[in-house]
Amino acid sequence: MNRRVTLVEVAPRDGFQPIGPFIPSEEKVAFITQANAAGLHRIELGSFVNPKAVPQMADTGEVLRRTAALPRLDAQVLVPNARGVADALAAGARHLVYVISASDAHNRSNVRRDTAVSIAEYGAVLQTLPAGIAIRLNVATTFDCPFDGRMDAGLVLERLAQMLAFRPDVEVGLCDTTGRAEPEQVGSLVRECLRRWGGTTRFAFHGHDTYGLGLANVSAAWQAGLECFDAAFGGLGGCPFAPGATGNVATEDVVWMFQRMGVETGVDLQELLGLATRAAALPGASPGGRVRTALASATRCA
Ligand code: ZN
Repeated sequence: MNRRVTLVEVAPRDGFQPIGPFIPSEEKVAFITQANAAGLHRIELGSFVNPKAVPQMADTGEVLRRTAALPRLDAQVLVPNARGVADALAAGARHLVYVISASDAHNRSNVRRDTAVSIAEYGAVLQTLPAGIAIRLNVATTFDCPFDGRMDAGLVLERLAQMLAFRPDVEVGLCDTTGRAEPEQVGSLVRECLRRWGGTTRFAFHGHDTYGLGLANVSAAWQAGLECFDAAFGGLGGCPFAPGATGNVATEDVVWMFQRMGVETGVDLQELLGLATRAAALPGASPGGRVRTALASATRCA
């Protein structure tokens, strides 16, 4: 098991996107600047999707430009199709998160096409991608689909094999979009992925805490051998296309857990708590996580 882990902060994308009231660009930039200063250097700061479908992400190009000079920041942006890739590259993005749903029903709801069509488009995109552009492949609904329920691991592995056949040296995010994955399911799929592709492909786990299993699933993925995890400060999140899905696992909870276990995250928990508390209070946000409240009351009791 890895004694040092990498956390990818996804609140500015996954956490902010379901929030109704528009968060001004300067406020987004301030959150990203503070997260980066707290040691979260990999940040998913927005997405290039249809702004009519997700208006909160309409200023991703602006946010990208205004954070470009931050030291050590590895800014990634989510793209669901070739058009998103073109828009992201035109805006100066250097690290793309290409999302495809393992489940047809969720993929159709997201981008109105079957998974196989998205996989073919991903293959074509890879051929035209300029040198020096990093890519993470996020496989949504890896464990569970809001429409089809629990995913068949055999089908997921088959689709992963099709995606990785184009290019195995990408980072793959195994995404529990609905938060209905359980630790045994996560551990078992992670072990199988590492057994098949661990030599060439780096895997990450992206969890939601909808049913309270967020941290348990992160722990299971870590015990199975992963060292890269997505999380959102304030436990913000929820997918506009996954009905009932709530927040991502809270970054502060993940940091606190790994600290207790003596696993290095590189994150300053005190700095993170300040910004997570502010994020949780954003108008229209539905925050999650436990550690903010627990640490605040621990201080009061002392
Ligand atoms: Zn998510």
